[in-house]
Amino acid sequence: MLNLDAYRDLITKCSQCQLCQTTCPVFLEDMLETHLARARIGLIQAAMLEGKMPVTRRLREIVDRCLLCTNCTQTCPSWVPVDEIIAAARFELHKGKRRGRIERYLMHQAMKQRGPKGLMEKAAPLAKKLGWSPEELPAPAERDFDHRFQGVIPAEGARRARVAYYVGCATNAFYPETGEAVVRVLARNGVEVVVPEGLSCCGLPALVDGDLGTLQEMVRLNVGVLAALDVDAVVTDCTSCGLLFKAKAAKVLPEDDPVMARAEALAGKVWEATDYLNHLGLVSEPGPLGERYTYHVPCHRGWSPTLADAPRQLLDRVSGAERVEMEHPEACCGAGGAFFMEYKALSQGIRSRKTEDIDRTGSETVVTQCPACRTYLAAGLPGRRVLHPMALLARAYGF
Ligand code: SF4
Ligand code: SF4
Repeated sequence: MLNLDAYRDLITKCSQCQLCQTTCPVFLEDMLETHLARARIGLIQAAMLEGKMPVTRRLREIVDRCLLCTNCTQTCPSWVPVDEIIAAARFELHKGKRRGRIERYLMHQAMKQRGPKGLMEKAAPLAKKLGWSPEELPAPAERDFDHRFQGVIPAEGARRARVAYYVGCATNAFYPETGEAVVRVLARNGVEVVVPEGLSCCGLPALVDGDLGTLQEMVRLNVGVLAALDVDAVVTDCTSCGLLFKAKAAKVLPEDDPVMARAEALAGKVWEATDYLNHLGLVSEPGPLGERYTYHVPCHRGWSPTLADAPRQLLDRVSGAERVEMEHPEACCGAGGAFFMEYKALSQGIRSRKTEDIDRTGSETVVTQCPACRTYLAAGLPGRRVLHPMALLARAYGF
């Protein structure tokens, strides 16, 4: 990802099988051939690697009009890492200057700082400037997670494991109750939870924005803190933060970067919270719930083969929690981090398919691990609860 040139050979592995056509949410919505994964990487190859075509504004649009959902990469039988090729092309096309200077400064500050004095103070004017729709951006919580939990939360009963909890920006600022649920449910099941200080945004917004410098800064800072901890695992409730640490962090650093070895070691320890708990097994039985729910599988799931089954298997232990599957539980919701703010009509079209599928399940509650999915789905499902699976489990425990 550091260098588009490194993907020169991998691009040629594309067999033009067109399987990615069935999973690309952008193509399924606008039906434009140029938005197919194979077409995107073919254009990148022709214009940016072989110089057979000029680098035009249209090429930039094609590279940018992608959710970086990774569905094409997960589908590809030839193992072409399409999302990484598109991200590497963005680094080269934008060189961290996709946005104006003020917007870049605010985004950088918002990613680097956390809490009401940091993220929200900077994000609110940026949101206003960009004309983001307020009904889709939830109000920040009165007390963010960083101000509710700090230090070490002891395990209840015999300690089975000790983990660091990486709390992403969205959980910290908008959904601290999700963070609280993660801490309490893990502790109830014998896990000691360390909430480290000094962390920043995982860096994924910078990756999406083509800002390699900011992304590397976030990776170095977070890896420096997390890799130094004496823990069995690093858990996160956010599938996108997990994707960044597990599958991308080491790839965005130069080979000789002093943080590289620690980034690779850290990747081996990263888990999504429900996946980790399911792997460890429950030792405390949750109580009953009278609830019909459906599970939206986040697109950023490919970094763990068990991530999509974990919430189902854990919540199957809750009597009275009835899971009704959607026809396409793995279909994208259209959020794509901040993509829905820039490509409103496109994202709303993708979301409509999803909410219709959810409606057909007759579920009053939707669970999903990704906070961007929750934000965007909640805005499209007024009156419905959209929760992290750990939050539903926490309710079953009576928290
Ligand atoms: S990352 Fe997602 S939106 Fe982008 S080309 Fe692949 S499937 Fe389509
Ligand atoms: S699925 Fe992979 S090999 Fe097939 S067309 Fe898409 S990128 Fe090429």
